Amino acid sequence: ERIVQGGDLEAVSENPSSGGSRILVFVRLRPTAKKEEEAGSRCCVKIMNKRDVYLTEFGSENDYLRLKRLRGRHFTFDASLPDTTTQQEVYNTTTSELLEAVLQGRNGSVFCYGATGAGKTYTMLGTIDNPGVMVLAIKDLFSKIRQRSCDGDHTVHLSYLEVYNETVRDLLSPGRPLVLREDKQGIVASGLTQYRAYSTDEVMALLQQGNQNRTTEPTRANETSSRSHAILQVIAEYHAREGTNIVTRVGKLSLIDLAGSERSLATDQRTLRSIEGANINRSLLALSSCINALVEGKKHIPYRNSKLTQLLKDSLGGACNTVMIANISPSHLQFAQQNEKRRTRSTILKGNCFNTPDHKKDETVRELQRAVKSLEAEMERLK
Ligand code: ADP
Ligand code: MG
Repeated sequence: ERIVQGGDLEAVSENPSSGGSRILVFVRLRPTAKKEEEAGSRCCVKIMNKRDVYLTEFGSENDYLRLKRLRGRHFTFDASLPDTTTQQEVYNTTTSELLEAVLQGRNGSVFCYGATGAGKTYTMLGTIDNPGVMVLAIKDLFSKIRQRSCDGDHTVHLSYLEVYNETVRDLLSPGRPLVLREDKQGIVASGLTQYRAYSTDEVMALLQQGNQNRTTEPTRANETSSRSHAILQVIAEYHAREGTNIVTRVGKLSLIDLAGSERSLATDQRTLRSIEGANINRSLLALSSCINALVEGKKHIPYRNSKLTQLLKDSLGGACNTVMIANISPSHLQFAQQNEKRRTRSTILKGNCFNTPDHKKDETVRELQRAVKSLEAEMERLK
């Protein structure tokens, strides 16, 4: 299998369903919230062109060349989506090509990764007025199916599930935890609801209801937990008679609103030591290990290490397309409360950035990889 590293958007758009797996990494900057503005927060993220993101001092740094010299503060993505980007533009840039491939019977996955409050749920689920990637993908799917309905039977099924503390739950039918088991098709969650969808209209309400079922943390009663991963599986099935044969194509698109990244990535030995066993998000850590292994072209991908990666085994790597949307917030203020400015800044830098081939030479990423390795060692020790 060929892994196209740091592939450019044009190449992928031209040929979405050709062989090999791809991992594309995008960054989406959310607008400054009213509250943040009132608190005097300034935007310290600069998107210089369509790919490069710089983190700047509070309003003092404007010089492109000087910024360029600031090591560890510059990140390159496959595309950078500034705070003016609409939900539809986010969908078009990141996910629409994957959907085309899903209709050809190829799996794909789209992740939103980032700190709590950075805009992951907004990007994935969105609001009634501004629906996100999940809803726009289903809308697009139905419209594409309508265009081709003359040439066969299409069905769409949805499953919406949660991984919280290594427990899998059905968000469409809350109840007892689901057991994962391996069968011919791969790893399945037994008893998981497969909702047959007929139109886009019903979907937003369904997903919002599902989102309400996400586990909340006892200390923040009304907030969905920053430690829960939500996965929407969109399964498109196609049957058609071609001569005397029946052709079947099944493609799955997994859309994932990941847990907040802030608690899973330690960036130095000091924070590493302060992390308690219970706070390590095993699934998030395992996902980053799998992605690192895929990016590095390793043969063995450690899917087995967590519930999330087991569930995504058939949608990550291999012949699948993978998209990572790194959500970032414009201000450091919300983190600055730790009032240790220097360290806070670098924590955010690393917390915002998922490993991508473009960064490979970047010292920051090597540090991140070291942190992941140490965390893995730490987890082994805690077992
Ligand atoms: P997360 O899921 O990463 O914790 P949310 O998606 O809940 O973060 O976003 C935090 C807040 O910011 C929410 O009130 C959300 O509506 C708002 N928000 C996030 N991204 C955007 C955006 N692109 N445009 C407008 N509001 C946004
Ligand atoms: Mg959220």
